[in-house]
Amino acid sequence: MFRYFFVLVLAGVVFEFGATGIVADQGGDAIDADIVKHLDSLQPELIDINQDLWAFAEVGLEENRSSKRLVEVLKKAGFKVTEGVANMPTAFVAEYGAGAPVIGILAEYDALPELSQEVIGTRKPAAGRSTGHGCGHCALGTASIGAGLALKHIYDKYKLKGTIRIYGTPAEETLIGKVYMLLAGLFRDLDACLHWHPGTKNRTYFSASKACVSAKFTFSGIPAHASGSPDKGKSALDGVELMNVGANYMREHIKETSRVHYVITNGGGQPNVVPATSQVWYYVRANDHEDMEKHFDWLKDIADGAAKMSRTKVKMQIDTDCHELIPNAPLSKLVLKHLKKVGAPKFDKADHDLARQLQTSIRADFGLKEQKPLHDTIDEFPEKPYRDDGSTDVGDISWHVPTGGLSTACFAAGSPGHSWQNVAAVGSPIGHKGMMVAAKVLALSAAELLQSPAQLQAAHADFQQRMKGRSYTTLIPKGQRAPKSIR
Ligand SMILES: [Zn+2]
Repeated sequence: MFRYFFVLVLAGVVFEFGATGIVADQGGDAIDADIVKHLDSLQPELIDINQDLWAFAEVGLEENRSSKRLVEVLKKAGFKVTEGVANMPTAFVAEYGAGAPVIGILAEYDALPELSQEVIGTRKPAAGRSTGHGCGHCALGTASIGAGLALKHIYDKYKLKGTIRIYGTPAEETLIGKVYMLLAGLFRDLDACLHWHPGTKNRTYFSASKACVSAKFTFSGIPAHASGSPDKGKSALDGVELMNVGANYMREHIKETSRVHYVITNGGGQPNVVPATSQVWYYVRANDHEDMEKHFDWLKDIADGAAKMSRTKVKMQIDTDCHELIPNAPLSKLVLKHLKKVGAPKFDKADHDLARQLQTSIRADFGLKEQKPLHDTIDEFPEKPYRDDGSTDVGDISWHVPTGGLSTACFAAGSPGHSWQNVAAVGSPIGHKGMMVAAKVLALSAAELLQSPAQLQAAHADFQQRMKGRSYTTLIPKGQRAPKSIR
């Protein structure tokens, strides 16, 4: 095919005019401007998607309508979508383009139990559901899909090379989706992976998180009349209680930064029957996976001891094992550069009013100090990686490929995670504004990675350096499939 071009040198800047229009200069300013413009045009649609996911509020492994909503949008845009990956019906991989480099963006969309809330500044559960997006994953999934759409737009227009992948990762709250997707072989061919999370601040993720194992211990005893013939019974609940006592004694002798928490998911039927079955669900966390494994070994001994003491039997089921996040300096800096370019969300008076109302309730419950309602500035790059005290299954990906991300203000300043206040904020224009900034930053960062082998090399070198002396091990039994449900 006949193709012509001529080169115009103007004030030291080189543009090529060809049959495909302006081929961007190395800085990619035209591409960047196009990404922002395209996402601005998609804003009404993205807000609709966020509101749908917000209202569906489906908990992990049950995100049927949410994942379908996202998949439909990606398919319509021309992405090749594979659903039900890693034996999870609500997990998907959407791909556009071909060849190297391969850049991944992560989407999450699961909600939390007991957090139903309307979009108002005072506590009022929304009618008809008990769940809510207290972690803002409705915006998380939507912005990542939005970034995918913008990338596809510039990929076609500027004839870019490489592959864009959007991963639909279910059940983040129970640290399941990405772990099992990784064990199924996904993510490993990525050159870089990008992610984001709604938060109270605007910052790049130059951070680490805690490793976490999730396991259930089921004790079995012998039922009997609790008053008439207690001597004929063996209480499974005794096993659970003794185990918890042991775990609480262990607590003092592990690192202060480690965490052990549990809920009793089955404590028996009623008091006049010696419980034949009882179950306790544990999360054990530590800053390093290696420490977490040691704590968990100890906990298993405690469970065995409790079974011996109560003359019951105990069975253990590991649901998941997730690793701490490995930071990546070049990717974090790249993301921060684009976050600064886009700018923090621009909140208006209505946003400030809602945030102030939400803060009032937080102040009453948790003693929050007086502070501005919403963060509208961008944090500078930290001197060393900061530590998030939670866990994320993004960690497992970061052990295999360079991974970087960001957080934008979608919640009132000072809000605790997993709170009804966050459900209200992320369903309001506060969340929408944070979400749009995140979509732009993800798309701009991914676009630069598609075009810059030097950035990818730097990210890879940093990754290799940080992974020295680490090797990925998992407590999940070999060949175990993702659970069908978690409760
Ligand atoms: Zn979350």
